[in-house]
Amino acid sequence: MKKTSSTPLEFTEPPEVEVTLDPDGIHLVFVNGCPHCGKKHFHGRGRGPQPIYGHRLAHCRPKSEDNPGYILVPSRQKQNSPDPAAR
Ligand SMILES: [Zn+2]
Repeated sequence: MKKTSSTPLEFTEPPEVEVTLDPDGIHLVFVNGCPHCGKKHFHGRGRGPQPIYGHRLAHCRPKSEDNPGYILVPSRQKQNSPDPAAR
């Protein structure tokens, strides 16, 4: 990995963010909001039977070197069993 210390904007590793599957079944949503702007974004889960996690670009930032995006990881909360008693 290359690391340059001469650039004023230091490129940071994309942070890991926990996401959960939206009730609509087709989007992944942040558990705690976007690490860049604090809002929620929706990302497609992919077409396969299993949601596709991993690196995504942040929708709130322009595509550029200072947009490392984030790594989507499955929420550690249980998410596969719909809870009928949930609020
Ligand atoms: Zn954002």
